[in-house]
Amino acid sequence: MLKDNLKTVEENINLACAKCGRDRSEVTLIAVSKTKPLEMLEEIYEAGARNFGENKVQELCDKIELMPNDVEWHMIGHLQRNKVKYIVGRTSLIHSVDTYRLAEEINVQAKKKNVTVPILVEVNIADEETKFGTSASDAILLVEEIASLENVAVKGLMTVAPNVSNPEDNRLYFRKIKQLSVDIAEKKIDNVSMQVLSMGMTGDYMVAIEEGATMVRVGTGIFGERNYVHRR
Ligand SMILES: *Cc1c(COP(=O)(O)O)cnc(C)c1O
Repeated sequence: MLKDNLKTVEENINLACAKCGRDRSEVTLIAVSKTKPLEMLEEIYEAGARNFGENKVQELCDKIELMPNDVEWHMIGHLQRNKVKYIVGRTSLIHSVDTYRLAEEINVQAKKKNVTVPILVEVNIADEETKFGTSASDAILLVEEIASLENVAVKGLMTVAPNVSNPEDNRLYFRKIKQLSVDIAEKKIDNVSMQVLSMGMTGDYMVAIEEGATMVRVGTGIFGERNYVHRR
């Protein structure tokens, strides 16, 4: 049962918080529902989940229409500029902003709708060729540039850590991006907050919490393995 999965994840979050002396309220669990059917989202919603993460614009928009209004939607996947217009004003947070040009387009669409769009800057913290995200060394400059956009609000950083079998192997990367967010916060850039640190997935969210994650994105741990084979 998905409810039991959710309960297990909740228990693990509690354990991780207890281990490092953090309050449970500092960590938001995002249920990553990409590729999963509506019934499964509804089941988790019934069990109390209110934060859902999706990585495709079309799927996100479809699910927004069909789920209750009090769901907070997180765009966590690579975002193309020509699709920005479909999601601006509809998500609580866009986690995956990694270029100024993308932020600029979000700003244009946000102005049209007279909203301010909260975003995170995605950092490729382990410098993996296969991953999106700005490099750690370019992150500060990118944040400073985006800060000048009136209708975009930087709330923090996001990273997708390497796919490892031992979560301890990612601890150094979590520590590195946490330090980066502290460094940026110390610059006290106007219109920039570093209150959110989105990191940790099914394989490593407990370590991520110990290293300062304020949002963990858990898919498989709640919904089970994804099957991409039967999808178009
Ligand atoms: C799919 C995805 C997740 C969830 O991954 P799991 O390993 O299934 O928990 C988290 N973050 C991003 C950006 C994703 O694309």
